[in-house]
Amino acid sequence: MENKPSVLTDKYEVGRLLGQGTFAKVYYGRSVHTNQSVAIKMIDKDKVMKVGLMEQIKREISVMRIAKHPNVVELYEVMATKTRIYFVMEYCKGGELFNKVAKGKLRDDVAWKYFHQLINAVDFCHSRQVYHRDIKPENLLLDDNENLKVSDFGLSALADCKRQDGLLHTTCGTPAYVAPEVINRKGYDGTKADIWSCGVVLFVLLAGYLPFHDSNLMEMYRKIGKGDFKAPSWFAPEVRRLLCKMLDPNPETRITIAKIKESSWFRKGLHMKQKKMEKRVRETNPLEASAAGPSENGGRVTEENNTDQPTSINAFDIIASSSGFDLTGLFGDVYDKRESRFTSQKPASVIISKLEEVAQRLKLSIRKREAGLFKLETSKEGRKGKLSMDAEIFQVTPTFHMVEMKKSNGDTLEYQKLVKEDLRPALADIVWVWQSDKDEQLIPDSNQETEQQQQEEEEEPL
Ligand code: ADP
Ligand code: MG
Repeated sequence: MENKPSVLTDKYEVGRLLGQGTFAKVYYGRSVHTNQSVAIKMIDKDKVMKVGLMEQIKREISVMRIAKHPNVVELYEVMATKTRIYFVMEYCKGGELFNKVAKGKLRDDVAWKYFHQLINAVDFCHSRQVYHRDIKPENLLLDDNENLKVSDFGLSALADCKRQDGLLHTTCGTPAYVAPEVINRKGYDGTKADIWSCGVVLFVLLAGYLPFHDSNLMEMYRKIGKGDFKAPSWFAPEVRRLLCKMLDPNPETRITIAKIKESSWFRKGLHMKQKKMEKRVRETNPLEASAAGPSENGGRVTEENNTDQPTSINAFDIIASSSGFDLTGLFGDVYDKRESRFTSQKPASVIISKLEEVAQRLKLSIRKREAGLFKLETSKEGRKGKLSMDAEIFQVTPTFHMVEMKKSNGDTLEYQKLVKEDLRPALADIVWVWQSDKDEQLIPDSNQETEQQQQEEEEEPL
């Protein structure tokens, strides 16, 4: 690790050291092509190999690449040489949240904001069966807009081997954030263990010190095991109640994330911040722009052409989008789980009134943005804000149309569920064929496979 490269595969300039973990050093980097700032985590393969965790790490990397959330440090790229693994990640300019807390307790509203973002990130990852197991302020980073970004998500394998190694254990400091059932090495539920750690983080943010602390390690374990902590006088009753439920030593009765979200402290001030949050939770997806859909505006139904104008999508668009000529395999990485398409042999007017009828039935708001382009939105808040999607109608011939639906905001899993369970059955009588039925199911696995294959092709084997 001593001799860091100054350039990584001609793609990234490597700069100053940002931080150091047990297995890794993290450097500032900049993309040579786009000038974008990144953080490059360099992991020593030998050390990881020794503890036999390579397989797990590889699997978790692919999970992490699928799970994108505005409050989770994004992993852009993984590279490897014979001796090292490189994670190219989103750069968090604000550094560790820990540094803020080290200066003293945070204001209520500031703590509230970070806690909100933390719970959203954790909830999102849990919905993808990814558990952190090492949540603590050192792993909570801030971007240049003071937004919280959870780091090391999906890399819990690394956190685990720290704990298995007695030596590392002591250098790691105290198990202050670790749930009692994890300490006791009972088989544990990752969801509940993360909730405990979030409770400790919340306490620390508001108090400026740890809830379970003792110079005697045995005494500290005892306190953790009993959930024995004392809230300082300035904690509001609502937050005390929430903390008691999060720091419940019994994982069975410990509060769930759904209930945390319903708690009065969590909901406090929600309305006020809602607008800001909604803006942030929008996923950015570079692939969307280049997705294999019809070219921009090409053939979309407009007032002028929705009656008798012939084909205006080009042949490539039709082939690429119709079920008989499924080229999604060819596009591989361009395939997008946020999109679904169907063809219909009904005229545009019928499709439009059907969309309106279905939207009403499913309690979605529907708004015409331009001719042939509609925006549908749920009224309920989901995991990543309201779910909204664009439905765009393209004319192929006067009685042959293609409708493309694209998620524009909200959680992708929730979107897929809505399409599969509600929209598809509801639209059945106007749909001729959905782009590809198998695509609907294949998404997570095949994406993972493609990414892994690509990784293996492009890089030296891990
Ligand atoms: P480890 O898992 O070995 O503890 P981390 O991923 O937590 O390593 O990184 C160690 C330190 O490097 C962090 O505590 C932080 O200070 C810094 N760091 C890590 N990732 C980033 C990032 N994306 N942006 C800025 N700094 C980072
Ligand atoms: Mg870390």
